[in-house]
Amino acid sequence: MQNAALRAASLPHVYLAFPVPPEKLPEALRGAYALGVLGLNLTIPHKTAALELVDDLDAEARSLGAVNTLRFVDGRVEGYNTDAVGFIRSLRYEGIQVPGMRAVVYGAGGAARAVVSALVREGGHVTVINRTRERALALMEVIGTATGKRHALAVAQPGTDEECKALQRADLLVNATSLGMAPHPDTTPLLRPEWLPSRTVVVDLVYRPRETLLLRTAREAGCRTVNGVGMLVHQGAESFRLWFGMEPDVRIMTNAVERVLAQEESQVKVSKDAVAAQGEV
Ligand code: NAP
Repeated sequence: MQNAALRAASLPHVYLAFPVPPEKLPEALRGAYALGVLGLNLTIPHKTAALELVDDLDAEARSLGAVNTLRFVDGRVEGYNTDAVGFIRSLRYEGIQVPGMRAVVYGAGGAARAVVSALVREGGHVTVINRTRERALALMEVIGTATGKRHALAVAQPGTDEECKALQRADLLVNATSLGMAPHPDTTPLLRPEWLPSRTVVVDLVYRPRETLLLRTAREAGCRTVNGVGMLVHQGAESFRLWFGMEPDVRIMTNAVERVLAQEESQVKVSKDAVAAQGEV
């Protein structure tokens, strides 16, 4: 860790995005290492492929079956997953306490896996609701085995009485599907908004747009709402700790993310207004 901090102090600090086609990932990693890069974040579709490309895999990445952070240390590539810890820290940052809580999680993909694992480990009870039931059952199996807390997990079908009951008991609702995300902001996983109690805290992992249809519906129902910026920042902060061995200022990170998202949203609005004005001519 000290090594990383020393190297970090002598290098320019830049964080850049590179679109890399799946077949070029091994080359991209070798190139980054050759350039003296400290580490990388990976996103879809590389999170699973990277499992086979690292020399050392941490326990969290192994149990989630996905790598989102790489660190280059003394000629070795280390693979980590900071999604689960980022999610829990974002909840703590908001003053939301998980132990004993009943949660509903929509989705059974990579993000849902991290969220469900984190909630169960922290002492929460989770009902997973997903379009493809088999994926929800598989998630329950994997997380139940990894955590030894199978009893804290259940699965419900969307639109059924099971979902209604789970929602009515829920202290926390998390959207870990891509529904609501641009360019389809008019989609939502919550098919029956009338089933959502106003005491439920609603967290959407989606952050483009910052207020999704789900969050707007929940806000209008009187619920407290939290968007995906918090998880994005806190999983990034954990990657930062791994690379630099020091504590980042999450307020600065949050402000930077908010600024970029606000700019993007105002550009989208300008384009929409221009299209609408053309239609009126
Ligand atoms: P993923 O592995 O591709 O999983 C996608 C999930 O969405 C699956 O459960 C899928 O259901 C569901 N889904 C997609 N389209 C649907 C539809 N039309 N109707 C019903 N369900 C649908 O993706 P992921 O990596 O888990 O990411 C999920 C979301 O979380 C994305 O929006 C991503 O941006 C966000 N995310 C945010 C953060 C953050 O830091 N804030 C971190 C990670 C991910 P099926 O199983 O039925 O296909």
